[in-house]
Amino acid sequence: MTVRTRFAPSPTGYLHVGGARTALYSWAYARHFGGTFILRIEDTDLERSTPEAVQAILDGMKWLGLEHDEGPFYQMQRMDRYREVVAGMLDAGTAYLCYSSPDEVEAMRERMRAAGEKPRYDGTWRPEDGKVLPTVPEGVKPVVRFKNPLDGDVTWTDVVKGTITIGNKELDDLVIARPDGTPTYNFCVAVDDWDMKITHVLRGDDHVNNTPRQINILRALGAELPLYGHLPMILGTDGAKLSKRHGAVSVMDYPEQGYLPEAMLNYLARLGWSHGDDEVFSMAQFTEWFNLEHLTASAAQFNPEKLNWLNNHYIKAADNERLAALALPKLERDGARFDGAPALPTVLGLMKERANTINELADAAMLFYRDPQPDAEQLALHLTEAVRGALALFAERCATVAWDKASLAAMIKEVLAGHSLKMPQLAMPLRLLLTGQLQTPAIDVVLELFGRDVVLARVQKGL
Ligand code: GLU
Repeated sequence: MTVRTRFAPSPTGYLHVGGARTALYSWAYARHFGGTFILRIEDTDLERSTPEAVQAILDGMKWLGLEHDEGPFYQMQRMDRYREVVAGMLDAGTAYLCYSSPDEVEAMRERMRAAGEKPRYDGTWRPEDGKVLPTVPEGVKPVVRFKNPLDGDVTWTDVVKGTITIGNKELDDLVIARPDGTPTYNFCVAVDDWDMKITHVLRGDDHVNNTPRQINILRALGAELPLYGHLPMILGTDGAKLSKRHGAVSVMDYPEQGYLPEAMLNYLARLGWSHGDDEVFSMAQFTEWFNLEHLTASAAQFNPEKLNWLNNHYIKAADNERLAALALPKLERDGARFDGAPALPTVLGLMKERANTINELADAAMLFYRDPQPDAEQLALHLTEAVRGALALFAERCATVAWDKASLAAMIKEVLAGHSLKMPQLAMPLRLLLTGQLQTPAIDVVLELFGRDVVLARVQKGL
C-alpha cells in the first residue's frame, strides 16, 4: 500500500499552530513511507473563505518547508465531480430527493424534542421497499439526503483515541446537496478522500463527530476506508484552548517575531508525539522516527518558553550569514547605520549565544550600528577623575597597540595596574562612551570589533 495523506485546511483565517501541527504529522507520515502528501483547500464556505487566507496557508506551509506532492486542490473547482457523485448515488438509491421545506423539517425536530427524542429528519421522503412516497409538490426544489443506515453502529479504530463507536440512530439522513445543487461539507470531504485515495486521515479532534457520517458515505460509495487519527487540541499555558490571548496563534506571526522554521517544526513535532526523551531533532530524524503509535492522546500545552529554548538552540547552530540576512530588515527598520561598522555576521555570531529570537538578536546587535548617546548622569557616575587619567592613557596606547583581542586585553591590564584600578572601573565608562549602554559583550571583543578609529573618536569625547 502506498501511503497517501492530506492536509485539508479551510481558508477562513490564518494558518494556526494547530493546523500546522496537523500538516506536519500528515507530511511526516507520508515522507516516512516514501508516500504522497496532498494539499487540499476546503473553500466551499463562500462567506468565510478568502484568497488572503489561501495565501496565508501557502505561505505558512512554505515557511515550514512542508512541501506537498499533489495539489493544491480546491474544492470549489471540483463542483462538477461532486454533482456527478450525487447523481450516481441517486441512481444507486443511496441518496434521495427530499421535498420537505425547512419549516417542515424544523417542525419535525420540534415534535421530536417535545417527545424527548433526539431531533432528526423523520424520513418522510426516504424511499423504502413498499413505501408510497408523498406527491412531489409543485415548484419546490428538493435537497438531496444521504440514506444513512437506520440500525447498527459505525465503529473505527482511531489511531489516537482508540476504538470509537457511534450508533446509526445518532446520525441523521444528512443533506448532501442543497436545493441549488451545491454539495455540503461532509460529503465533499468523503468524495475527496475517496478520489484522492487517502489512506490516513490525521486531523483535529473537532472532527470526530464528522467521521461516522463520512464513513457511512464512503461505504455507500464502495470506497475503501482510510485510517483516522484525531489529534487532541492544543491548550495555552492556563489550560484553556490556545487563542490569541496566549500570544501568536498564526504561524506566520512566528517568522515576524524572529523564530526559525526548524525551531517551530521541532517544537510542533513534540507537541503531541514523542520519541523517548528526545527533544531536539532534525526533520530528517523526525520523518525517520515518526509513527502513529506515539501520538499523544491527551491535549498538549503550548509552552512558549520551550519554543524559545529550541529557537535559541537553532539560532546558535545557524550560519551567521543566514542570521544576518534574517536580522537585517529589523535592523534597517530600527535605523541601523552600517558604514564603518563591524560586519553584521560577525557581530551576530558573537551575540547569538543568548538570543531567543532573531528580533532579540537584532536588538542586541544594534549597539554596533547607532551613535551612542551616553546618559549624562551615568557618565558622571562612572567617569570619575581617577578614571579619566586611566582613560587618557588608554587612548594614547590605542594609537599604537596591535588591534586584536589579546593585545587589547593585555594593554587594558597594564593601564589598570598603572592606575590601581579594577576592570569594571575602566570597562564601564568605556562601554558607555562606545555604545551608550552598560551591558555589552566583553570589552576587549567590543573594542576589537569597533576598530581603532571608532574607538579613538568615541573615547576622545569623554576626555
Ligand atoms: N477543513 C477542515 C478544517 O480546516 C479539515 C477537514 C479534514 O481534515 O477532514 O478544519
